Amino acid sequence: MSVFDCLKRLCPPALPWVTGLLGMLATGPVLAAGYPEHPVRLIVPFAPGGSTDIVARIVAEPLARQLGQAVIVENRGGAGGAIGAAEAARAAPDGYTLSIATVSTMAVNPACHHELNYHPLHDFAPISNIARTANVLAVNPELGTEDLPEFIARLRADPDTVAFGTSGHCSVNHLAGAAFEQATDTRMIHVPFQGSGPAVVATLANQVQALFDNLPSSLGYVQSGQLRALAVAWPERLRQLPHVPTYAELGLPSLNHPVWYGLLAPAGTPPDRIRILNQAIAAVLRQPDVRQSLSLQGAMPAANRPEQFAEQIQQQYDWAREVVEAQGLAVN
Ligand code: GLU
Repeated sequence: MSVFDCLKRLCPPALPWVTGLLGMLATGPVLAAGYPEHPVRLIVPFAPGGSTDIVARIVAEPLARQLGQAVIVENRGGAGGAIGAAEAARAAPDGYTLSIATVSTMAVNPACHHELNYHPLHDFAPISNIARTANVLAVNPELGTEDLPEFIARLRADPDTVAFGTSGHCSVNHLAGAAFEQATDTRMIHVPFQGSGPAVVATLANQVQALFDNLPSSLGYVQSGQLRALAVAWPERLRQLPHVPTYAELGLPSLNHPVWYGLLAPAGTPPDRIRILNQAIAAVLRQPDVRQSLSLQGAMPAANRPEQFAEQIQQQYDWAREVVEAQGLAVN
């Protein structure tokens, strides 16, 4: 017999009170008295200047205004996001250490590294998705390839001579590069960085000639002509880059996979704090200035509920396992 049944038998008249109390004990206090009382850390699992960092810094200040406490962005790049994600997973589950979820940390890393020291599905409490964005393949204009067919021809003529930069080993951009090589039967040299920020800088300096990136970190350089975009992964052409074809248009639909960023707390964070954070980020993403800032960077605001975000993570996790393992992509 459960404690609940026992109490029901002993004192039926007090049943409503007892069930209410037990309900509170089961789900945590209904109100988060005084939360947050001090600044909140927001771990970005990539270097400064990358798309994750850009999105985090757009939402951090308005989120701080919603919460009435500072939100401090901390970059923890390395290992395709796995270092920062592991630190975020191990933080105290008190709502004072949050992190940005990416397709790399929640799906590709786990499919690629079998010995990760965090579990994307068990170690986090999803709060909300923040934004979705396209992937982009760009080159340094000095490579001299004007479009994707010319780029592919160049790679076929001289395999293993063009280097591509990414946000890290086992990142979603590494997967994009490997999938591109497989789909086009080409070979390049992979150069992983601690995030797209340094990968973009290396491409601008022509230390690597090509870049697989998520749009926010590359868009400004593509618009200014310092990088040349050859293809975007998005269902249709982007308003921000109307002259750049999608992979699907170019006959490579399997590469047309977009990405997203979301907000996480460590598993075990009280549900009332998750609720407060979900409402706060949803309010942030309704603000016209925030929506415009994200959109100028090529990121489309897209909030959802914690259970929807958890389902989204699960779907991407399953997708990445399938793509990395079943199709045998050369991510190693
Ligand atoms: N979402 C990208 C990744 O997961 C971002 C890299 C970055 O922000 O530097 O690889």
